[in-house]
Amino acid sequence: MRQQTTDEPPIYLPDPTRPPRPAPGCDVCEALDRQRAEAEAQDNISQATTCEIEMRRHPHEQPAAEPEEAPRRRKRR
Ligand SMILES: [Zn+2]
Repeated sequence: MRQQTTDEPPIYLPDPTRPPRPAPGCDVCEALDRQRAEAEAQDNISQATTCEIEMRRHPHEQPAAEPEEAPRRRKRR
């Protein structure tokens, strides 16, 4: 079967949310982000995409206003 195509390079789906951001302080997301970067460096797009999907699916409790543990100290008055 023939498909009518033009001479264009393959297009990866544009995703406005990519790359996803790893949740701050989440070891799993950090590890996934590292894996994604490594996979991308090796042109392993499918592996990189898998990492992105897992990162997006990783559940987090979003702190409403203030995080319980502040990563940085605030200035004291
Ligand atoms: Zn996470």
